[in-house]
Amino acid sequence: MSPPLRSVLAIGGSDCSGGGGVGLDTRAISAFGLHPATAITAVTVQNRTSFSSANPLEPGLVQAQIETICDDLFPSAVKIGMLANGAIVSTVARMITGQKLKNRVLDPVLVSSSGGRLLEKEAITALTSELFPLCDVITPNLPEAELLTQMRLKTPDDIQKAAALLQKMGPRCVIIKGGHAGGPNSGDLVCLDDQFFTLEAPRIPGAQWRGTGCLFASAVAASLGSDEGGLAPEKLHRAKDFVTKVIQYSHKKSPSGGLLVFPSGFQA
Ligand code: PLP
Repeated sequence: MSPPLRSVLAIGGSDCSGGGGVGLDTRAISAFGLHPATAITAVTVQNRTSFSSANPLEPGLVQAQIETICDDLFPSAVKIGMLANGAIVSTVARMITGQKLKNRVLDPVLVSSSGGRLLEKEAITALTSELFPLCDVITPNLPEAELLTQMRLKTPDDIQKAAALLQKMGPRCVIIKGGHAGGPNSGDLVCLDDQFFTLEAPRIPGAQWRGTGCLFASAVAASLGSDEGGLAPEKLHRAKDFVTKVIQYSHKKSPSGGLLVFPSGFQA
């Protein structure tokens, strides 16, 4: 008998350039050997240099996708990315509780590096009050963590305080990604239960990559969904190591940065 199908549900926006969004999520989930299912929240029109529009879908259509996937596939984890507006935030919050989704990972994306809004400003309160308490892991980058905590994050101590503050909003684990900070390393600060530690990686100088946040959060969801062992530091290290490998591969192919590339068959 074949082993049961393990799947991860990626809820988020389509990025037609393939630089980020659910297209990239599915590649990350596949690299972990899990089946990627998707619920699209919005269609964005963007490329490497410009962002023309974000077009949210009707919340009912988002709900129908999630229900239909859960009826059949019973995902072992969920990754949530672009939510576009408050109605979709509320729908996703209802769905992840109603469908008893496990291993909930939220990348609280607000603005893409190509300049488009991925969540309306007015929906940020819904995100923090309705979704944060339901999530196991949230993965803000430094600018997102500053906005969500209303703190200036200059020192490692500031970042630790911000992670603790975000954890008080509900998620069991907060990972503040260090990619936007300077310095030779690109470490992410993790606050898991009452423990702090970092996920280290060497910074590759001179290159900017699109989609690393999507890739990391999807990798965390896939890593958590790979077995029944639950949230543990080694699962987060596995996700970070995967992202580092993809960036190193992409850097060889395109030293100046840009879109992440990894060949089909790339394994985490
Ligand atoms: N486009 C969509 C629809 C996204 O959801 C995301 C990230 O979540 C991005 C683009 C990526 O943005 P960035 O270029 O900042 O990595």
